[in-house]
Parts: sequence; structure tokens; C-alpha cells
Amino acid sequence: MTLAPYASHDATSRGRRYPEASPANRSEYQRDRDRIIHSAAFRRLEYKTQVFINHEGDLFRTRLTHSIEVAQIARSIARALGLNEDLTEAIALAHDLGHTPFGHSGQDALNECLRDYGGFEHNLQSLRVVDVLEERYAEFPGLNLTFETREGILKHCSPRNARELGELGKRFLEKTQPGLEAQLVNIADEIAYNNHDVDDGLRSGLLVLDQLKPITLFAGQYDEVLQRYPDIPPRRAIYETIRRMINQVVTDLIENSRRRIAQSGIQDIEDVRRHPEPLIAYTPEVAEKSRELKRFLRQNLYAHERVTRMMGEAVQIVRQLFEAFMKDASLLPPQYQEKLRQPNGAGAQARIVADYIAGMTDRYAMREHARLLGRPGAPRPGE
Ligand code: MG
Repeated sequence: MTLAPYASHDATSRGRRYPEASPANRSEYQRDRDRIIHSAAFRRLEYKTQVFINHEGDLFRTRLTHSIEVAQIARSIARALGLNEDLTEAIALAHDLGHTPFGHSGQDALNECLRDYGGFEHNLQSLRVVDVLEERYAEFPGLNLTFETREGILKHCSPRNARELGELGKRFLEKTQPGLEAQLVNIADEIAYNNHDVDDGLRSGLLVLDQLKPITLFAGQYDEVLQRYPDIPPRRAIYETIRRMINQVVTDLIENSRRRIAQSGIQDIEDVRRHPEPLIAYTPEVAEKSRELKRFLRQNLYAHERVTRMMGEAVQIVRQLFEAFMKDASLLPPQYQEKLRQPNGAGAQARIVADYIAGMTDRYAMREHARLLGRPGAPRPGE
């Protein structure tokens, strides 16, 4: 498969922070992907919450299966558009590496704890994981990934943090675009969670079918499925509907992006970066339908009383762990205490504690909490 001229190419890569010889039998971006798969942070995704805490059931998505679904959707789109599939996969598999335990609640709690120390952004933390926190290689800190993979990982960034990131932070200050692979993973992420959260939401019973019937994306496909297969069992009707929903938005995205790329006249990745707006985009109609679904999930699933109650307890766990480690650094594992002995300047302890907590899986955080605070730390579903 030949790459389009405006795709990311090894030859035009902005390179790695620590120069390395090119790999013998792989592309640069394959090597990035391989390093991500071998990282500890990647394995931890298995026990980190997407929406449902891990012990609620074995069938629910975790951050690991979510990341694999994002990679699948993103690679399909990349191949259809002649973009770099290896880079796309690397970005997709790494995009959530910086997530704290307990999903967005854990992140908000940690951000609050770090209010006086520069805050906590999970996107920036993903970058920190691959740039600094993974210690696996003899010749450099982190995974030493290419600029393009790092550019894709850093989806958002506050201007203050962007200023400290040099070349990588520039686009947030100059309001330019990342490469097309980064743009498409961003949307593939949303496609994956919008659809798998409908599935998980229905399976858990937190959502019921009747609530989804007025939602345009769902209704369009569901009605057609029932018309074509009137005797279909209910679970299969839902799977068939969701698979068609994914197909509908992916098809729209591919066709519309192809049109936009053709009309824009871009020739290479630097043109992509300079273009005033992202080129990977839905048609306005599908963008609106997708927003409608997202709104629905926010109001009915993420804000569901059972989810918020569990997440409220998760916030307590994160906050109390942070306070305990700030008060008594000797509670930290030896390698983190070692980091504290290095001259790091003000706020160093807070950042080191945050790195430790952010790296925890849900169950590890609960166990640490129970160990240090002597209280049962595990929020239980339905309690
Ligand atoms: Mg994600």
C-alpha cells in the first residue's frame, strides 16, 4: 500500500529527542508502536477504568480493550485514506497511557490535589509516561518516540504547559494542526467510546433501550435492523445496531475527509500542519448526530447515580492517598523515594506523588488505600 504524499513518512519525520540509527527491518513508527506495547504503562491499562470499575464484570471495556478498539477503527480509516497505519496504531495504543485509576474522576481529583503545583492533565501525563517515566532503555530516558507519535499523543495542552514543551508545544500557541494520523486517532477515540459505552451501558442495565430510541444515530440503524430481521434476539439486535453505527460514522468520516483533503490542495505534512483547520472531519450532519449521542451518554450514563456514587468514593481514595504520601514520603516505594533525593525544585514531591498515583491501576489504588489508611477502600457496585 503506497502512502499518500500528505501522510507521515519516515523520511520527513522530525525525529527522536535522542538520535538513534534507523531500525533494520521495521519503519520508525513500527518501532514506536513496538516500544509502546512493551511498556509497563501499556500493561497497566488492563486494570484501569473506562467507565465501569474493573470488578463490576469481566465483559466491560477497560482502558486496554478501549485502546485496542481505537487502534482498530483508526487503522481502518488510515488505510482507506492512504495514511501511515503504523504511526496511527502507535498513537492509538499510547493515547490513554497517562490516565489515572478510576477514569475521569481520578484525574479530576488528582488535578485538584495538584492545584498549587501546576495541575494534572492526563494528556500531558501520557506524554510524560513515554518521554520520562518508562525506564527501560540503556541509552535514553523514556521510550524515545518520534516527534509525530508524541505530537499525536498530546491532543490538548494548556498554553502554560505548551510553552515548556518547546517544538512539541508550539502548535497550541500558534494554533496549527497536527499530522493527519493524529487528527484521525482523536476522532477514532470518540467513535470507539461513544459506541462501546452504548453497549456497556445497556449490558449493565444503567441504560435501557427505550432511552436510546430517540437518539438519531441509534434509531436510524436500530429500526432498519428490526425491519430486516424481525425475529432477531434482543442482544443480537443491539450488537448489529452498534456495528452499523460504527460503520456509518466511519464511512462518513472517510468520504468527507477524502473530499476535504482533495479540495485543500495540500501536498505534504507541513501543508497539513499549516492548514487553518483539521482536514479529518465528519460532514456537519454526522458531526451533529455524534454530538447528540455524546450528550446523551454524558447525561444518562456518565452522570448515572450508580456511576457517580462509585466515582465519589474513588475521588476520596485518590485524595487520601495523595495526602498520605505528601505527609509522609517514607510511605512511597523506594524508587520514588530515590527520586525525591534528587534536586528537583519546588513542587517536586507533589509531582512524584502524582506520577506514582497516576500509574496505579484501580485495584492497586484500592489496596494501597486499604493498606495505608486501614479502611476498606473498594467501592462496591450497587452499595
Ligand atoms: Mg481514549
